Amino acid sequence: MTAPLVVVAGAGLAGAAFAACAAARGADVVVLERTTRTPAGGIEAFAPGVHRLLAALSLHERAHAAGFARQEVSVLDWGNGEQPWRSPHAGAGAYDHGCHAGYGEFVELLLSRAVESGARVLRGAEVLEPVVERDTVTGLRYHYRGEDRAVSADLVADATGADRAVSGPLSPAERESVTHWMARSRVDGGSEGEFVLAQAQDGAEWTWSVPLHNGTGLGTLVVGGDDRGRGDGERWRGCRSARLAGAGWLSVGDAAGRADPVFLEPATIAVLAAHTAAEAIGLLSGPGRGEYAKRYTACYTRILDCAREFAAFCLDPARRREDTETLVRGLTTLMGEGTGGALAELRSALAGHRPLFDVECPDGPLLASLAMPRQPEMR
Ligand SMILES: Cc1cc2nc3c(=O)[nH]c(=O)nc-3n(C[C@H](O)[C@H](O)[C@H](O)COP(=O)(O)OP(=O)(O)OC[C@H]3O[C@@H](n4cnc5c(N)ncnc54)[C@H](O)[C@@H]3O)c2cc1C
Repeated sequence: MTAPLVVVAGAGLAGAAFAACAAARGADVVVLERTTRTPAGGIEAFAPGVHRLLAALSLHERAHAAGFARQEVSVLDWGNGEQPWRSPHAGAGAYDHGCHAGYGEFVELLLSRAVESGARVLRGAEVLEPVVERDTVTGLRYHYRGEDRAVSADLVADATGADRAVSGPLSPAERESVTHWMARSRVDGGSEGEFVLAQAQDGAEWTWSVPLHNGTGLGTLVVGGDDRGRGDGERWRGCRSARLAGAGWLSVGDAAGRADPVFLEPATIAVLAAHTAAEAIGLLSGPGRGEYAKRYTACYTRILDCAREFAAFCLDPARRREDTETLVRGLTTLMGEGTGGALAELRSALAGHRPLFDVECPDGPLLASLAMPRQPEMR
């Protein structure tokens, strides 16, 4: 059997993770990336569940050698004048720490593994649009070295972030009205090993602190309001697509949807989604691909919806006026009936207890079994 030809559009976190996992599973992978080199970016906080990906790619030692900092504790300060909540990872999940790493370094780590497993990475290649034949995506048109070209694929993965270069023409996104300014600027405070999310007491902004060993990489999320003079940042706007996959294509990472600016560590969700999606390449490019595409959409949408609910809960100004007991009650409701249990599952995946999507199913490796209740056992 010949290996499926998989073309990945975009080599950010999600694209690099998808390419590395797909190549490790024997796919013939081509990555088209617009930039000529990976930008350094800011410092990303990754939840402990990221170790599932690093383990699958045998990258733990390299991550350690690259000096990725350990994230031992998550701290959440609601800005209500009470003690911030501290959640140590040790004893709480499958792994005792998450990690803090430069965006560019993490991407390069994943891309190097992809290349070692046979992937070809074309830099300076801008994806223009999908090639669609009889409702199936069969390849991509792209611009490279002054020429428009085309490449065929059994499966195209859109990992172009908010640009949605492939999925945009296939499934227009609905933009959320809420926008924020996300800036990577220095914030005072932050101790090594601690990922701190804190709301200012006036509620105008959230800050997060993502310390490295050798100093501190920090960020600011300005909630609404004016964004000028806030340092090196960008306007962040949530968006959701009706379809996250179809015949011959899927989207992953921010291209699939931007649901949460920072609260549930969206970078971890992006790379874990890429990991699971790569496990389902055979299904998504095989004869039943239309049906699997629907399940992928249903399952991933559920995750994104739940991340959005969680972010909306955190961003609601009412939180600042609530004491711990009220906050716990609100979160408990959200974990249960508020998100139909999806938030509890998502948090469990971020802690490393389970894959982001459940591919273990009595009928075989069914992607999106979250969206498909398990069959009762046959008597
Ligand atoms: C200021 C800021 C701070 C953040 N901090 C955190 C944090 O601490 N923790 C966290 O979990 N999340 C954080 N996030 C969110 C996180 O960075 C994103 O969720 C994550 O980067 C999404 O990864 P991605 O691969 O989907 O998209 P991206 O990282 O945006 O990658 C998209 C890639 O596609 C390429 N591309 C785009 N268009 C084309 C095209 N037409 N052809 C070819 N290539 C193309 C781009 O060049 C890029 O390489 C932060 C975001 C911002 C803006």
